[in-house]
Amino acid sequence: MKTADVPGVPAPFVEQLHSEGIEELYPPQAAAVEAGITDGKSVVASIPTASGKTLIATLAMLSAVERGGKALYIVPLRALASEKKAEFEAFEQFGVSVGVSTGNYESEGGWLGEKDIVVATSEKVDSLVRNGAPWIDDLTCVVADEVHLIDDRHRGPTLEVTLAKLRQVNPNLQVVALSATVGNAGDIADWLDAELVDDDWRPIELRKGVHFGNALSFDDGSQREVRVKGSEKQEAALLRDVLEDGGSSLVFVNSRRNAEAAARRLADEVEPFLTPDEKSDLRELAAEVRDVSDSDTSDDLADVVAKGGAFHHAGLAREHRALVEDAFRDRKLRVICATPTLAAGVNTPSRRVIVRDWRRYDGSGMAPLSVLEVHQMMGRAGRPGRDPYGEAVLLASNHDEREELFDRYVYAEPEPVRSKLAAQPAMRTHVLATIASGFARDRDGLLGFLEQTLYAEQSTEEGRLEQVADQVLDYLVQNGFVENDDGELQATNVGHTVSQLYLDPMSAATIIDGLRWAAERESETAGTDTSAGSFTATDSAAGFQTYSLDGDDGDEADDDGETEQAEPVADAGDDADDRPEKPTALGLYQLISRTPDMYELYLKSGDREQYAEEFYERETELLGHPPSEYEENRWEDWLSALKTARLLEDWANEVDEARITETYEVGPGDLRGKVETAEWLLGAAERVAGEVGLPGPITRGVRDAKKRVEDGVREELLELVSVRGIGRKRARQLYDAGIETPADLRSVEKGVVLAALDGRRKTAENILENAGREDPSMDEVRADPTAVPDDPGSTPDSRADEQGQESEQSQTSLGDF
Ligand code: ADP
Repeated sequence: MKTADVPGVPAPFVEQLHSEGIEELYPPQAAAVEAGITDGKSVVASIPTASGKTLIATLAMLSAVERGGKALYIVPLRALASEKKAEFEAFEQFGVSVGVSTGNYESEGGWLGEKDIVVATSEKVDSLVRNGAPWIDDLTCVVADEVHLIDDRHRGPTLEVTLAKLRQVNPNLQVVALSATVGNAGDIADWLDAELVDDDWRPIELRKGVHFGNALSFDDGSQREVRVKGSEKQEAALLRDVLEDGGSSLVFVNSRRNAEAAARRLADEVEPFLTPDEKSDLRELAAEVRDVSDSDTSDDLADVVAKGGAFHHAGLAREHRALVEDAFRDRKLRVICATPTLAAGVNTPSRRVIVRDWRRYDGSGMAPLSVLEVHQMMGRAGRPGRDPYGEAVLLASNHDEREELFDRYVYAEPEPVRSKLAAQPAMRTHVLATIASGFARDRDGLLGFLEQTLYAEQSTEEGRLEQVADQVLDYLVQNGFVENDDGELQATNVGHTVSQLYLDPMSAATIIDGLRWAAERESETAGTDTSAGSFTATDSAAGFQTYSLDGDDGDEADDDGETEQAEPVADAGDDADDRPEKPTALGLYQLISRTPDMYELYLKSGDREQYAEEFYERETELLGHPPSEYEENRWEDWLSALKTARLLEDWANEVDEARITETYEVGPGDLRGKVETAEWLLGAAERVAGEVGLPGPITRGVRDAKKRVEDGVREELLELVSVRGIGRKRARQLYDAGIETPADLRSVEKGVVLAALDGRRKTAENILENAGREDPSMDEVRADPTAVPDDPGSTPDSRADEQGQESEQSQTSLGDF
């Protein structure tokens, strides 16, 4: 089908396609048009990577807008939201407006309502629906990208429920679901009442094979020699082979550490192929990478990048990932060693894909990857228009393994997609949201809604859905999030808040318990008789004791965050005089780390002893009745939470980023993730504490702990970091020079400021201006060396390795990268 013959799309778009050389639709695209995507019909397109899914989505959205409608594009990863928005912004030239939702309902106000196309992750859309964003009702077309991720136990249920809700709000909604090739695309189409386009067609031939010994064997029966020298690794030989031909390779491995190690080794293979000009480009790129963050990961990545390679995993900062992906697409980098994160959606095609590890540690042992995952990785092979074909290669170390890999992955069909909604955290969260946002007002309404999910479609066991729903309802009522008034279900005020804040109800219950425990302890320490009722009665007669659920629906690891009812204070020990008055930052960080919404750090070997010791040292700061050492799982959980809390405390105590990433063996991206989660959970804790009427010192404790983790500073620097341009390091330098507040910046001798800022005039001027100083100019000012202490004093941790590496970048707070 010619693009000019597609009905219902704006003419300028067709012209744009022509200018890009796209005159003919790919066969699956033509099938989607024939199924009615430009005519408002729902379609599920299950087709391989690189076969043009984006154009299918675009045709659906633009024709919907052309008919006066409004479209929503749901992306699976936050990183893809900006990528897609940038892509769709090209339509603005013919009057189609595009916006990306940050999900912050208050700040977005109504402006997204004005946009023709909105791009958002499923979590953001879910949150907009919960908060009642009015424009949701105006949607006529929704595109769900990578819809097979419904099978993902962490993120799948949100996508599933979001689609069900959008369809309930608007029964005529056109749904276009884009999926990798999966075993049961027909089920998804049935669920969504959509036409199915199921096609294996690819624009560029993909050869799948297995390398063993010196031979690369392909699925078509052909063989090629790729000789492995002496003790070298197979992937090194396969990379060199493709470099000799001017191509590039993506190597998938099963852990971050392996990605880094493999990248270091393979970059040495690339180096001899680089020209002097290419080397100099790479040196510049390496400098950019190094500047992204002050951590070993940044340095290690920069070292590899300088030689033409890279590693890629979820521990990298977002900027690292963007630099690496762009440079690989521009052919500056010739090899990326990646964990499977890169296979999910990011557009980085490569001549050859090497799936080095096909097993991954899954918590108990090494388990094989799914066929779907391996096919997703393999699908990255071949750059249309650049390569004659793509090659995807698995590695076998013996003859039997070669046969196994052919059977298991090369010839195998991908698994069917299965709903994961029955897992308890997902059910808890979504049932509460469904009631809070008025989608269901009684048990029948709730079941009626759940009937519309893929879970119901796939559930074969009679009565299972009702059983799961009843258990969860019970939990929500018992914990005071939902009221059951003679069969009429309503969220309580706290229930509403929890749903709007996007918390797992179990996290909220844990937090409320912990804070309530702290309040009782405080009132006891102060010798006043504050009964529990005075700060818990606002919402629920049942108070906020938490009850756990019996049974689970097979999702074993998800429920280990269960909370126990708080014990009476008198049992918690008898040394009341030692206890702090308001909760300490560490106590609060450990509390939020115990919730299922915080991914805790694992305990590594030796950690158990270390954190058990720390536990006994700081037990009085922890909020809640601790488990005994004999309750294996809960004890382990408390220690992991303590370890996570210590990381957050180190950050809030101004310990250097490099030191933290080394001590806890995490990447800068992980540190940033933990800090963001802590900010969110403490913000939620502050709201919820107010809601259930907890006393002032508790709320203040939460607020201070939140601000400190947000800026990564001790309490005395909170005022200084509120000035733009002052990050955690500069604030400490200024403070050590006697400048403690923004008011001091307005009155102090300028020479002192200049000295404190290592003589950086421009920086000093900016900071003085931001602090509101009338004449911020530093002309003729001389740094006053006596103002800066020789011994940096108050936070030796943070200062030790900073000297001499000051740069604009190192000033950024974690929130900036
Ligand atoms: P997918 O999302 O299926 O992995 P994309 O939508 O990103 O694939 O498309 C892959 C590439 O194919 C893009 O560069 C796109 O411009 C190009 N493309 C899509 N449709 C056509 C077409 N009909 N003719 C030529 N190129 C196309």
